[in-house]
Order: sequence, then C-alpha cells, then structure tokens
Amino acid sequence: MASRLQVADSRPEDWVYVSEGGATIVFSYRGTENPHFKGRVLRLRKVHLLDSSAVHSGEEEPDDPMIAFHRDVISYLVPQAFLPDLDVILLNESWLDALERLRDGDRPLERRQKDKIDKLRKKGVLATDLVGGEGIVAVEIKPKWGFLPREHHLSQETVSNKTSTCRFCMHTYLRSQEGSFPTDYCPMDLYSHNETRIVKAIHSLWDAWVRSDGSLNNFKIFVSGKVVKPSHVRAPLSTTREPLIVTNSFKETVTETLTALLLDTEVLGIISSLQRTLDELDIEGLAKLYSMTASDNAKSGLASVVADPTLEDWRDFVACYQTSYRTWDHANPDPKHIQYYLMSYLLSATFKDCSIILRIGQCDQSLPSARSVSIIDLDLKPMNKLGGWEELDRMIVERYKTAGHQKRCAP
Ligand SMILES: [Zn+2]
Repeated sequence: MASRLQVADSRPEDWVYVSEGGATIVFSYRGTENPHFKGRVLRLRKVHLLDSSAVHSGEEEPDDPMIAFHRDVISYLVPQAFLPDLDVILLNESWLDALERLRDGDRPLERRQKDKIDKLRKKGVLATDLVGGEGIVAVEIKPKWGFLPREHHLSQETVSNKTSTCRFCMHTYLRSQEGSFPTDYCPMDLYSHNETRIVKAIHSLWDAWVRSDGSLNNFKIFVSGKVVKPSHVRAPLSTTREPLIVTNSFKETVTETLTALLLDTEVLGIISSLQRTLDELDIEGLAKLYSMTASDNAKSGLASVVADPTLEDWRDFVACYQTSYRTWDHANPDPKHIQYYLMSYLLSATFKDCSIILRIGQCDQSLPSARSVSIIDLDLKPMNKLGGWEELDRMIVERYKTAGHQKRCAP
C-alpha cells in the first residue's frame, strides 16, 4: 500500500490522553508540525497487564479489524457525514513505550491496574478528533435501545412487559438491584423527536451524571478535548478564561443546544431504525429459530454459536440486508436464513451500544462554532456473546416482572 502514515513522524509528547474503553485507548494530537495529524486522534489497542500481545512478531499483522468493518459494512448503512474518518497508522514499540511513560499517569487508576497499551502492535487507527479544539464543548451520549420489539416472537411470559417497557428501563431496574446508580433516563424519550421528551431525557442523563460524578458511561462532557467530571468542573476551568461551572444555567444552555441539535438531525432515527430492522426476531425468536436448525442446537441454545463471520460474509450480508432481507416474512422466519439472522442480531447490537458525539460550541458562547453530530464506537461484536445476551435478556425480564413494575415507555 502506498505511503502509510507512521506514528514516528510525530513526537510522543505531541499526543495527550483523552479517554479509553474496555479494549482501546485514545490520544489526541496537540502538535503543530504535522498536517496529517492535525485534528485527529490515535486509537490504540490495549492488553491485560498479565498478557502479552496476541499478535506474533514476524507475521504480517492485519489492519485493525475496525477499519475493514467500517469500510465494508458500516459505511453502507450510515451516511458518511455521521462517521469519523479512519486510517491505518504504523506503530513502533519504542515510540509507544515513550508515549506510555509520558501519559500513563493521566489514566484512571482502576484502568492502570488492569491493562496497558499493547505495544507489540504494529498498526493502530488514526481517526477524526471529534471532541478536540480550544474551548470546544462536546457531549458524548450512549443512547442505547431505541425501539420496542414486535410481539411475533415473544413468549406469553414476556410479551406484555417487553412491548410496554423498553429494554433499557428494565435493565436499569436490574442494575439498581445490583447496586448501580439508578437513573430515570429512558432512551425512548431521547429518540422520540419530541422536544419535551428530549429535554426530559437530557435532564435525566445530566442528573445521573452529577449524582455519579461522571462515572456512568452513557453521558460525558468534554471541554477543549478533555473529559470533565461534575466535581472537577470548577477547578480546572476557573483558571482559564472560560467561566464554566456546573450551574443550572450551564445545564440549561447545554440542554437547549443538545435538544435543538437532536431535533435537527436524523442521526437518532438512523440508529433506531438500524437497531430495529436488524433485530426483527428479538433474541427470543432468534433462539427459537436457531433451535429449529439442528437437534443439538435445541439443547445448547445460542451459547453454542461461536464461529465469527468473515469479512466476506459481512459484505454478503449487507448486500442481502439492503435487498431481499427486507422482503422476508420476519413474522415467519425461514430456518435456512439462520446465519443471516444471527449476523443481523450481532450488527443490531453494534448500533445498540454505539455512542454519538455532539459538538455544541464554545464555552464562552460568544463565538459561534460549527455544530455537528457523529456516531462512534461502531465496533463489531463477537458471536460468542449471543449466549450471554440470551441469558441476560431472560434475567432482565424475569426480575422486572417479579418486581411487579410495568412502566410505559411510549414509542
Ligand atoms: Zn424506557
């Protein structure tokens, strides 16, 4: 491939820590010399402290699977305007080592105790920096499930709960029983395209953000490319020219701007439509169909699905999804389509777990700045998750039902 980007064309000190998830860690370019890196972030894979990298030196390392998945699958389903640009960047161990020495202290302690940059990787991902820029305020929201399932494949035991209470609200109940921060957030409000309900959803996200001091993963605020915690907002920012503090007026300004932006964009409609149309059977219907395909499958359930599709399988699936899949009778699914239904559910899970980044403007509000919405974290899920999801689904509904709740989450 022609002249690939090399991380060694920049200095480790030009990159600052932004954030990290379970599998990857993100740094943002603050140097000025290299135009290829300006406005971009470096996304690196992590490895458990006790593990060494799974990639053996000497072998040709494939590009990060995220790049191919975006190129061959995601970009056919989501308009490019909502997606960050992604490129492969070549890494080297001594450069990563220097970066780690400089920035490891900026990571949360609980993360540092668990994992580290996978320094044996030869390739990383360079992506659009969606939260960076001096004084820029950006909000990351993980909207979660934005639809109620159709009743075709639901059992007697679950149908009334699943068609009136959304999956997130039922899951929130289970989580609160297990000691998590309770939240009033209902995704159906955020997805509603109704101003009053969107405001209600944002207020719920905000209140849970404040109560948990930013420890929930469904709402984050970035200022100048850095995550701000409710309790930290006053300190770091009072030393800068921005008079930003967690006040009601800041909350209202952010809510107003986010609401206007969400009413103006089709991004949530695209996400919920993909989630729903890729999950026509619900996990219950998927499990039933799977059990019909072989006698062994009936016993073991979805937990026995382990083989991951190849990239070519995914390309074929997307072509099918855009054509014949839409004409299939999903109320009476054909067992011969089981593989595509499994893949479809997996892809739906990607959209149920993605986040959106909304750039909402400058701190001091005096400078208008480009507002935008993007979708991030569109990672491919592995097939071996299906068994766990089947189990979790059963537990979520069972507990909710036993508690006698039946919240109505309007579509
Ligand atoms: Zn709900």
